Amino acid sequence: MKTILITGGTGFIGSNLCKKLISDENNKIICVDNNYTGSLDNVRELLNNPRFKFIEHDIIEPLNIEEKIDEIYNLACPASPCAYQGEKAIFTTKTCVLGSLNMLELAKKNNAKILQSSTSEVYGEPLMIPQLESYRGNVNPIGIRACYDEGKRCAESLFFDYHRLYDVKIKVIRIFNTYGPMMDPNDGRVVSNFICQALRGEDLTIYGDGSQTRSFCYVDDLIEVIIRMMASEDDFVGPVNTGNPEEFTIRELADLVKEKINKDLKIVYKPLPADDPTQRRPDITLAKTKLNWEPRIKISDGLDKTIEYFNRRIKGEM
Ligand code: UDP
Repeated sequence: MKTILITGGTGFIGSNLCKKLISDENNKIICVDNNYTGSLDNVRELLNNPRFKFIEHDIIEPLNIEEKIDEIYNLACPASPCAYQGEKAIFTTKTCVLGSLNMLELAKKNNAKILQSSTSEVYGEPLMIPQLESYRGNVNPIGIRACYDEGKRCAESLFFDYHRLYDVKIKVIRIFNTYGPMMDPNDGRVVSNFICQALRGEDLTIYGDGSQTRSFCYVDDLIEVIIRMMASEDDFVGPVNTGNPEEFTIRELADLVKEKINKDLKIVYKPLPADDPTQRRPDITLAKTKLNWEPRIKISDGLDKTIEYFNRRIKGEM
């Protein structure tokens, strides 16, 4: 039996990961979350499973666990700009930095492997398109996104120092924009906003002129690469980009959602938030070669599944 601890386990990616890993009967899951942006509803179907345990805990504080832990997936952190900015900014940096420290200590004590969910935000406003892992980024250290970007950058450096100094087995992935079932309808990110607005018959809100780009990865593809990364050879530590290289402007995304839900919906333009990256697209050559992975789910199919999920959520069916 393998004991796997997942921080951020009730969040969007964490809950999808819990469900995938528990389907292997040799795995026991300890799901840790403070439920700030996550919710127990996301893992409700697992709560009666004897191989699943939920601990309400904020990883800013040290975590003492009696059981021997084999693997840690450190996913805890608010990830939507509207959840991590503003009054939660310092909390976000603490989650990235103190949270990573606490989890690295736990990994060291248990001689466990630990995976860090880093982010494409470490590249900031990228001057290299597409972004390769060797690119060092262009982050505004005093901007409103810095709490997240610099927090995640500092977490990466902590991971590599624990690896160099204490031989902790680390894995670092840089997650690009991801969407799919279990996203919070109030999450504030573009895919959930557009779909929920469209399903409610509201105007779609584009920030700026909509010419900025993102590359969207369906969550099942992401879960697959996260698990492959954890299972990879110990000497492959990353960082590795995990995302879908198919790039869309935000206007194209709005049109896709309109096409699928209601062609007559209007678009309203709102101010572009400060430091909102202009272009983002991963180079995934490393993931392809080292992990034999590439995304399989096309945006059209992924959107269909996500629309179906939000439809049920909005109608209160789940
Ligand atoms: N965005 C938008 N309308 C929305 C929400 C977001 O036009 O209702 C834009 C946002 O300004 C950004 C892009 O969509 O340029 C992706 O934003 P999101 O918050 O999803 O992710 P991130 O900025 O972290 O990549």
